[in-house]
Order: sequence, then structure tokens, then C-alpha cells
Amino acid sequence: MSQILNRNVLVLNKHWMAIHVCSVRRALSLVYQDLASVVTEDYEVFDFDTWKDLSRFADTGVVYTPQYPLLAPEVILLRRCNKLPKHYVKFNRRNIYQRDNFTCQYCGKVLPRNELTIDHVIPRSRGGKSNWQNVVLACIQCNADKGDRLPKECAMNPMREPREPHWSMLMYRPLIEEDHTLWRKFVDVAYWNVTLEE
Ligand SMILES: [Zn+2]
Repeated sequence: MSQILNRNVLVLNKHWMAIHVCSVRRALSLVYQDLASVVTEDYEVFDFDTWKDLSRFADTGVVYTPQYPLLAPEVILLRRCNKLPKHYVKFNRRNIYQRDNFTCQYCGKVLPRNELTIDHVIPRSRGGKSNWQNVVLACIQCNADKGDRLPKECAMNPMREPREPHWSMLMYRPLIEEDHTLWRKFVDVAYWNVTLEE
């Protein structure tokens, strides 16, 4: 359930231009407040009540509120507000993996999630912060090779300068879903979605 609530929803402005990505939780709240409508793949537009009616017949992708089930929207259309919501990409593991495209930033290998680690370019032990500018994906080997050294001490520099990703970058690079492999049962969803400490 919390996994569904954190899924990405595409936000269109009133001219049907994609302007943002938000969570299912936020999307449903906007629809409930009548600030947005749900758009389906047939370009049909639903307000909260009609969406609620439609949701009764769904059996997957449903959020169960205490009163009724609600289908998780994939796209919403803002009714009035045409201003860009603040572009802010949450600093969490999921988004770091997406930003770096499951690629070790030192050797360039593309690897499954469990073979990648989050490396601090300037190690924490040397005063490095946990933020978009100082973390990159590294394979286990590169991370071990680098150890507690600064990039200039080991001549290991990230392929791309790490920075905060633009929300649209994450939109066009859907998370590689590992077809519900077993790790999901053991790894708390929050592990991937929690905002990391600075
Ligand atoms: Zn590597």
C-alpha cells in the first residue's frame, strides 16, 4: 500500500503539458481537493467522485482508504494552477539509482541493484556530506578499491559530476523493476524511499 502511494504520477498543467511528477498520495489529495482530475489512457478525465465510482471495479493498483478503494492514478491534470510546482527531487536511494542509471560511476558497469553501493565521493570520514553532489553509485569492487581516499588520492573520479537530478530526468527513466523478485519481501520499501540524512 505505501508502495503504491509513493509511485510516481505525471502531472499535466491545464494545457496538458507535463510539468511535474508527484506521488500517488499527493495526486489523490489534489484530486480530492478538486485541484486536479485523473486522466486515463483514453484521455478521459475524472473528478474525484467519478474516479471513486470507477475504482470500485478495479482489483489491482488500488489504494484502500478506510471508506473505499481508490485506483492509483498514473496521470493527473491540474485544473487551474498553471504554475510549476516546486521542482524538488527527494534525496533517497531510489532516486540516486535512477539518476545514475544503475551504473557504477567509476568503472561504468551497469549492474543490478544489489551489486551497487552508494559511495561518498569525499568519504564521510573526511568530512564528505550525504547530498546529491557527493554521492554516486559504485560497484562493490570500486567502492572497496576507493576506500576512504579522496578522488585525487586514488585517481578515481565519477564519470559524471554528481548533481541534483531534474525531476523530468526521473520521469523519462522509469525505475527498472526487478519483476517482484524476492528482495522486495525482505527490504523495507522505506529503505528506498526515505529521505536520507544530510
Ligand atoms: Zn565499478
